[in-house]
Amino acid sequence: MRGVVASADDRGPRTAGGGVMSLEERLAVDPIACDGHGICKELFPERVRLDDWGYPIIDGRPVSPRLREHAKRAIAACPTLALKLERS
Ligand code: SF4
Repeated sequence: MRGVVASADDRGPRTAGGGVMSLEERLAVDPIACDGHGICKELFPERVRLDDWGYPIIDGRPVSPRLREHAKRAIAACPTLALKLERS
């Protein structure tokens, strides 16, 4: 029986140029748009904490699929649309 063999070069989807496309997503904040409401910290404490003035400090680790819904909820609730998930 033939199976799928993963080679050392089997690292996921490819870009048009043949490069490996990363599927990692990280939460990012636009510091200009952010008004420091702090809702994001309440909805996504796994990746957001607040500084002394109430502005978010984003943990730059990738957002796992398990946490993605939490991130999406925080993004949707941000009143200034300052949050987004970025692929890197
Ligand atoms: S919810 Fe939006 S506006 Fe409020 S602190 Fe977070 S990023 Fe800034």
